[in-house]
Amino acid sequence: MKEQDVLLDVKQLSIAFQQKKQKVPIVHHISFSIQKGETLGIVGESGCGKSITSMSLMGLNQQTDTTGEVHFEGQNLLSLSEKEWREIRGNDISMIFQEPMTSLNPLMPIGKQMTEALFTHQAIGQKEAKAKAVDLLETVGLKQAESLLKKYPHELSGGMRQRVMIAMAMLCHPKLMIADEPTTALDVTIQAQILRLLKKLNEEMDTAILFITHDLGVVRQICQRVMIMYAGRIVEEGTVDRIFQKPLHPYTKGLFASVPSFKEKKEKLISIAGHVPKPGAIRSGCQFAPRCPYQMAQCLEKDPALQSIEQNHRVACFLMEGGEDTESPTLASESADKTV
Ligand code: SF4
Repeated sequence: MKEQDVLLDVKQLSIAFQQKKQKVPIVHHISFSIQKGETLGIVGESGCGKSITSMSLMGLNQQTDTTGEVHFEGQNLLSLSEKEWREIRGNDISMIFQEPMTSLNPLMPIGKQMTEALFTHQAIGQKEAKAKAVDLLETVGLKQAESLLKKYPHELSGGMRQRVMIAMAMLCHPKLMIADEPTTALDVTIQAQILRLLKKLNEEMDTAILFITHDLGVVRQICQRVMIMYAGRIVEEGTVDRIFQKPLHPYTKGLFASVPSFKEKKEKLISIAGHVPKPGAIRSGCQFAPRCPYQMAQCLEKDPALQSIEQNHRVACFLMEGGEDTESPTLASESADKTV
């Protein structure tokens, strides 16, 4: 990866909540980067730290104790003032959420919301702002865009609202868009349309996308690279092709084994035994050890570091050090063609 191609570079990011007098760690020393125009997926179960990580990239979790470095085009975002953040949010980095109603103002017509966002970041006239809003609504596939400007969010369907959110996120042509489960609340056909739209915007506008999801099928459709998180750590990271062909971490293997496949007929789906640890209950050693069928003595003593197995593939598991065979009767039936 060439240094000039790196858009976002996260180094040793740790996030903790202060709960009464106790510090509750959520994210532990994670490091990753995103290249210009790249699509990176972050996958994990609820509570693994993926959403709080994305919030820190938008400066939206100021109530937390956050350490490390988040460099965006060379500037450390964690040292910005609120005024400096306002310059970057929506302009260079934008975000879309699972439920657009939480982000759209229910009392303001769509057009006003879009043009006000433009006025915040650009020296632009009313007529030009309106034309830009219409143009973007058409780009995201909304018909009769001009009349849509007068409508309120509640007058639109869920799929239309999500398209409006995407149009708003693209208003200032951001370099990075963070999409936090943007299709989870939508039905399958609308979900497919929104994913195609995001891919088109990524390709045509060269906007990098950080896609947060629990859905491996979505990652396969839209991402070039994927990062698997468990209990606030990155346990595996690599290109989508590589990880879908040969997942190596026992947790990633478990995720693949637990989703249905159209190609393989399974009697029943395999679930990963046990539960994700609660943030306050995090213990020493590998966090996945209580659920891992390959657990060894050293797994209970220290946390495995994320190591390069080969180019573009990193794994945090002691099995990789010993080159041990991770095939097991319980997790051996995973394949690269899983979808959800
Ligand atoms: Fe399992 Fe040990 Fe690897 Fe953790 S380090 S995933 S417990 S084998």
